[in-house]
Amino acid sequence: MNLRDCIFCRIVAGEAPAHLVHDEELVLSFMDIAPVGDGHLLIVPKAHSENVLDTEPAALAAVMAASRRLAHALKRALGCDGIGVHQLNGAAAGQTVFHYHMHLIPRNHGDPIAFHGRKAGDPERIAENARKIAAALERA
Ligand code: AMP
Ligand code: ZN
Repeated sequence: MNLRDCIFCRIVAGEAPAHLVHDEELVLSFMDIAPVGDGHLLIVPKAHSENVLDTEPAALAAVMAASRRLAHALKRALGCDGIGVHQLNGAAAGQTVFHYHMHLIPRNHGDPIAFHGRKAGDPERIAENARKIAAALERA
C-alpha cells in the first residue's frame, strides 16, 4: 500500500485535518470523525502497520499505555459510566481503516453497544470534546 493513501498516515504527517487530543513519541490520538457517541477517540501508532498482526510490540504497548491515560481523561472530561476500548483486525472483523488503531468509546448505562457511528459527527461538538479531553489529560 502507498502510505500516501493511508488517511491515518496523512493525519500523523499533518497532511490531513484531525481534532488532535494527544501526541507522544510513538502514538497520536484524535477524535473519531463519525463518533458512536460524544468523546469517541482513536489512538494510532505513528508508524504505519495494518492491524495487530503486523504492529511492533513497542507500538502496541504505547497504544495500551495511552489508552489508560486517555480513559482517565475521558472519565474526568465527560463523566461517562464506562469506556469501550477495542479494535478490529481485518475487513471480516469490521475494520474499515487499515492502519492499526484503538477505539475509546465513552458509554453510559442504557447506550446501545455499537462499534461504528452511522454518520459524520458535528465538527463543532467534536472540537469541543477534543478540547475538554485534552484539558482533562493535562490536569492528570
Ligand atoms: P475501524 O472500522 O475499526 O477500522 O474504524 C475506523 C474508524 O475511523 C471509524 O470509526 C471511522 O469513523 C474513523 N475515521 C475514518 N476516517 C477518519 C478521519 N479522517 N478522522 C477521524 N476518524 C476517521
Ligand atoms: Zn497508515
